[in-house]
Amino acid sequence: MSEKKYLDVFLKEEDLMAREMFHGFVEKEIMPVRHLVDDDNDFMIVNRILQGLTNLGVQKAAFPLEYGGGGAASIVSAAIMHEELARGDSGIATSATVTTWAFLPAIIAGNKAVLDHFAPMFCGDALKLGCFAITEPGGTHGGGGCDIENPSLQGRKIRTVARLEGDEWVINGQKAWGSNAGVADAYCIVCTTDPDLGDEGIALMYVPSPCEGLSFGKFENKAGMQGDKNCMMFLEDVRVPKGFRAAGPGADAQLMHNNVIAARILTGALAVGNAQGAFETVLKYAGERIVADKPIRQHSICAGMLADMAIGIETARNYCLAAAYMYDHTETYGPPVSDFMLSRASIAKTYAADVAVMVTNKAMELMGSYGYVRDYHVEKYWRDCKIIQLWEGGAQLGRFDVCRGYYECNL
Ligand SMILES: Cc1cc2nc3c(=O)[nH]c(=O)nc-3n(C[C@H](O)[C@H](O)[C@H](O)COP(=O)(O)OP(=O)(O)OC[C@H]3O[C@@H](n4cnc5c(N)ncnc54)[C@H](O)[C@@H]3O)c2cc1C
Repeated sequence: MSEKKYLDVFLKEEDLMAREMFHGFVEKEIMPVRHLVDDDNDFMIVNRILQGLTNLGVQKAAFPLEYGGGGAASIVSAAIMHEELARGDSGIATSATVTTWAFLPAIIAGNKAVLDHFAPMFCGDALKLGCFAITEPGGTHGGGGCDIENPSLQGRKIRTVARLEGDEWVINGQKAWGSNAGVADAYCIVCTTDPDLGDEGIALMYVPSPCEGLSFGKFENKAGMQGDKNCMMFLEDVRVPKGFRAAGPGADAQLMHNNVIAARILTGALAVGNAQGAFETVLKYAGERIVADKPIRQHSICAGMLADMAIGIETARNYCLAAAYMYDHTETYGPPVSDFMLSRASIAKTYAADVAVMVTNKAMELMGSYGYVRDYHVEKYWRDCKIIQLWEGGAQLGRFDVCRGYYECNL
């Protein structure tokens, strides 16, 4: 593999070393078993891989150094890891990285109560998982995933309510779909103290699991992404200490929007990795399989399809890294939570997800029936990547958010 695929300006030496490490891990630990992940109902395979990533330091990477974490703060570095892991399995990559996402608000806020309680466990050697729960089932008021992510709606659609009683928050509500739901050891639950307060009411609450009042539905039966578990979460009078709110009124809204922006960049990188994996598979196959007396890829109509895939992957990768670089360089591009950054992150995510869907589709076409069977990997890339278009605000809110960076939107 050539490192020429990255612009020097984006990457530091340690990023290239980490990339080599994750690439090697994927080749050794994921590639040989990725076709078994869909049937891994007892999580034996997935948990073994996740434990391997914990051993590499993924779980503790973003926790502060004083808690034994890695003190990592670069989204560019995180994007490289997301791409490499997703080249193997984007569901496992999601499960492994969502833990950091769940703790990012507390880490940014420097919340001592949360970090004192959770960091020792998450910076240890054993596999622990976190979940960041924004999405709700929705109802006649709206309030699905997009309505809560939509900054214009200012948290007014959230129906999971946190009420302060003495020194404790009491939380009631329902969350849907969160990655690692039902298997996580800690949940960051997006609540409101009062929907009428708008952004001031948004409250990010840390809930350990198990916890009295916290229960789960059955695991969702999805088309793909089986390496990541999802289910309904029910909160009935769940009590957590007062200090387990991430930051406070106003600040929690900023932290939630920051998480959405960071996740759009990083799930863009996830889509790139998925597309890269499918591309490598089809490139090899199309070089070996003969149709009409020559390899598939020597037919110009097929070469054109491979070229479109390469164009998509290269441009998506570079734009995801460009957006990550902007996020990291606040001195030039301003604060991470801004219409500008939301717009650039949404370009990265919507474009990369569309590329992954296009690439996996075309790869399957070029492989004929072999693209459709599990042995050849492409059908799994195809099933796994579709959700990247749909999550994190979906393709439509994503495009709406792109426009916010260019004009005042009254859509
Ligand atoms: C595998 C998987 C992992 C997930 N992980 C997580 C997680 O870790 N945490 C979490 O909180 N959630 C998670 N989700 C949920 C996911 O992020 C949401 O489903 C997603 O944000 C969309 O929300 P929704 O399904 O409620 O759709 P809706 O909000 O009902 O949207 C439906 C449609 O309306 C469009 N739309 C929405 N708003 C607008 C608008 N203003 N203008 C025009 N069109 C609009 C959308 O783009 C979409 O096409 C996950 C889901 C899956 C399947």
